[in-house]
Parts: sequence; structure tokens; C-alpha cells
Amino acid sequence: MENDIQQILLTEAQIQNRIRELGEVLTAEYADKNPVIVGVLKGVVVFYADMIRQIKVSCQMDFMWLSSYAGANSTGNMLVRQDVTANIRGRHVLILEDIYDTGNSLDFTVKHLKEKEPASLKICTLLDKPERRKPGITLQADYVGFTIPNAFVVGYGLDYNEKYRNLPYIGVLKPEVYEK
Ligand code: 5GP
Ligand code: MG
Repeated sequence: MENDIQQILLTEAQIQNRIRELGEVLTAEYADKNPVIVGVLKGVVVFYADMIRQIKVSCQMDFMWLSSYAGANSTGNMLVRQDVTANIRGRHVLILEDIYDTGNSLDFTVKHLKEKEPASLKICTLLDKPERRKPGITLQADYVGFTIPNAFVVGYGLDYNEKYRNLPYIGVLKPEVYEK
């Protein structure tokens, strides 16, 4: 698995330090708001587990599972495989995402959740790849862990064909791995 990594982009320590910083901001933002923290599966799972432990307020966990991605290219076709189970109407909702890439997935998620009329809706993404944004998507993430260059990354929840999610760091995959 490690042999398929060309370069470590973000180490375990860098990720954990940034999560603690974001945690302080989010703890202040959501004090007394009892937010519903919605994770977008499956890539967010590792980030989610670390992030919520740094948001030191009373909160509720929930998840959405979308389906759209085949290999390294986004199709833009979204499917809700599993919707949130909480009634978020009138609640403060914080979306946690692994990566904001073309924006198809977040754009869809935001529209889908807004229809349920939350009191507020904010986005926290661990990674932002602005160079890849689809024209027409103007949505801004409210909280960004790291802005990264246009490379396909894996680890810390992110996969390539369901592999590498359990790497503790974020790395760039050797192009020959997905060009094979
Ligand atoms: P979108 O293109 O809709 O912004 O991103 C949708 C999803 O594509 C992300 O949630 C993530 O699962 C996947 N994705 C986008 N960029 C990368 C990347 O560099 N590496 C991996 N492993 N997945 C990515
Ligand atoms: Mg994802």
C-alpha cells in the first residue's frame, strides 16, 4: 500500500494540529446550538471521528451516503443512498466533508439539506481543491482544513477503488497506479 504513494502531502501530525485549530473555532461557533453534524460517507469517516472529538459542544451525529464516483473521475450524477435520519428542520446543521473537488457532491448535498429547512447550514471540508471546481459552482466552504493542489490524493478516509482509506496520512497516489 505504502509503495503506491508518490509523496506524503499532509502528515498525521499536520492533520491533527489543524483539526484542533478548527475544533476551537467550531466549539465557539456552535456553543449552545446543539448542532446536527452531518458526515458525507464514506470518505469523511476518519476525519469525522477526529473532528467531532474537538468540537466540544453538545451535538448530534448524522450521516448521508451519496453515490457518484467511479475511479478517479466524477460523473456528476448523484444518488442519495442513505439520507440523514434526524429531523433537521429548524436545527443548526454542520456538514463535514472529506474533499471539495469539482463541487458536484457538496452542491448537491447543500441543496438537498436546504430543502429540509435547517436554521443554519455550514460546511467544513478537510481538503479544498479549488483548481478543480466546475464552472458555475460558486459555493464557498465555511471552514477549510487545507487547500491543496490539483492531484489525486488518498489516505485518511480517501480511497482509490476502496483502497488506502486506512492510511493515517494524506498522500499523492503514483499516477501509474490509476493509469494501469
Ligand atoms: P466533488 O468532485 O463532487 O467535489 O467530490 C466528490 C467526491 O469525490 C469527494 O467527496 C471524494 O470522495 C471524491 N474525490 C474528489 N477528489 C478526490 C481525490 O483527490 N482523492 C480521492 N480519493 N477522492 C476524491
Ligand atoms: Mg466523499
